[in-house]
Amino acid sequence: MVGKEQEEIEKELSNEYIALTYADYEAGLKAGKLLGLKCASCGGITCHPMPVCQWCSGRHLEKVELSGEGELRTFTIIRVASEGFEDDVPYIPCLVEIKEGPCIIGRLDIDVESATQGIIGKTVTLDGISTYNGDKFVSGEHVCPVFKIVGRE
Ligand SMILES: [Zn+2]
Repeated sequence: MVGKEQEEIEKELSNEYIALTYADYEAGLKAGKLLGLKCASCGGITCHPMPVCQWCSGRHLEKVELSGEGELRTFTIIRVASEGFEDDVPYIPCLVEIKEGPCIIGRLDIDVESATQGIIGKTVTLDGISTYNGDKFVSGEHVCPVFKIVGRE
């Protein structure tokens, strides 16, 4: 019975192993903090929040505040909106390798004309949040981190 097993797993996780919920992660972003999880087994940092360490699958995690600084790994420019994002285009989702290790997805605050291959590898820092409405896959309002390139207005 797969369904029953899943229910048991979630119950077990919610009771003991969830050190940082997604709601807490978003509340942190709203307060200007990037929160993650530090693994007691391997010392690795997990972000976005997950029930297990993203490096070793360890379950003993502690909530920590991260620097919010990292390196821009890649980005793309969205010009045609998917459902729920009609008011946002154009926008620039980006992948940032945070100093503490994990790669996280956010948005890049830069003019689309300036978003060229030359910005990949630049140092970025957390600079606020972007709020988006739900679509048929995501219920309600959510936030994601917004990064800016350091030393650039
Ligand atoms: Zn670990």
